[in-house]
Amino acid sequence: MTDWIAEERRYLFQNYARQPVVLVRGQGTRVWDDQGREYLDFVGGLAVNVLGHAHPAVAEAIRRQAEQLIHVSNLYYSVPMIELARLLSEVSGFERVFFCNSGTEAVEAAIKLARRWGRDTKGGAYEIIAARDSFHGRTLGALAATGNARYQEPFEPLPPGFLHVPWNDAEAIRAATTPKTVAVLLEPIQGEGGVNVPSPGYLAEVRRWCDERGLLLILDEIQTGMGRTGSFFAFEQERIRPDVVCLAKGLAGGVPIGAVLARGEVAAHFVPGDHGTTFGGNPLACAAGVATVRTIIEQRLPERAARAGERLMARLRELEDRLPLVTEVRGRGLMAAVQLARDAAAEVTARCLERGLLVNAVRPNAIRLLPPLIVTDEEIDRACEILAAALAEAEPPK
Ligand SMILES: *Cc1c(COP(=O)(O)O)cnc(C)c1O
Repeated sequence: MTDWIAEERRYLFQNYARQPVVLVRGQGTRVWDDQGREYLDFVGGLAVNVLGHAHPAVAEAIRRQAEQLIHVSNLYYSVPMIELARLLSEVSGFERVFFCNSGTEAVEAAIKLARRWGRDTKGGAYEIIAARDSFHGRTLGALAATGNARYQEPFEPLPPGFLHVPWNDAEAIRAATTPKTVAVLLEPIQGEGGVNVPSPGYLAEVRRWCDERGLLLILDEIQTGMGRTGSFFAFEQERIRPDVVCLAKGLAGGVPIGAVLARGEVAAHFVPGDHGTTFGGNPLACAAGVATVRTIIEQRLPERAARAGERLMARLRELEDRLPLVTEVRGRGLMAAVQLARDAAAEVTARCLERGLLVNAVRPNAIRLLPPLIVTDEEIDRACEILAAALAEAEPPK
């Protein structure tokens, strides 16, 4: 039998610290490795597999589209991108959609759109205020927006025009605003930062400030969107509307895609030649996107995520009460983190893997759970049992 891990070490860039498992197949919330071992998948491809693995609607849409037309480029019209844009517009109320291929590209497009808008309407304002501990992607523009020195420093100098303020502090945004400010860019709940849920009213306060100063509010819903937090977009629960929204991750049920949704008058500032991508709006990805979005809406998966999330949170709170290693449980819907008293996340993740559960060490001292929206109550209970055993095995705090 091929030693795939040895082959990976030989041929690929060694820029990932992967878990020692070769996954070959998935079904629903379960995946199997090349030894035939089964795992409950509570990483969900990092919030990508919203419908779980091998969902028939997504698989069938990909098969049919692959037989018909995989790619044509943006020199031409194609049907799936128009269908997906119409669906997203209907579900979001935003007039216009731009397609790309990943989260970081969606953020890049939003940054360029904000700068274009600032040049046309705000005397060349270009500065974007973002939050510390945020994550917006790895390309240079999105990296400059990301409030994490560990990701930024090795690649300096980064593009100028980004300012970072403490998370969950609307006053800090007000204080950082200058005549050069064009936009505020935030995640509704910080994902890679460790599932940091803001205080009630934070986003509404930022929205009011943006209105007062004529700034764009750009929300990065790449992780929180697609129903994960209990509504299709997390911003719906804050009773606000941003001007621009970035989507990616779960949008096409696992096929690479990204999107920017914007108010029509903002989107209108991009004219032919301003921005583009070869693969953006690719028929295969967009057909998968149409199947994914339709399934989320028809099966009311945001509501399901809210209910399942309550069960997950209740189970995790039991662990918090019972285990001294667990100091806090955070999250909303099916986006949750377990805070540990010490840097034991890698150890707990490894112990979960041994016991047949995939979880993610989002921070050295925090475990993140991002199961598919179709996760069952039994799977939630089983995952929490495994996590409890793994946490109990890990050393108690010294
Ligand atoms: C994952 C993520 C990104 C980057 O997406 P990629 O597809 O990895 O480029 C950006 N913003 C947020 C909030 C994310 O969770």
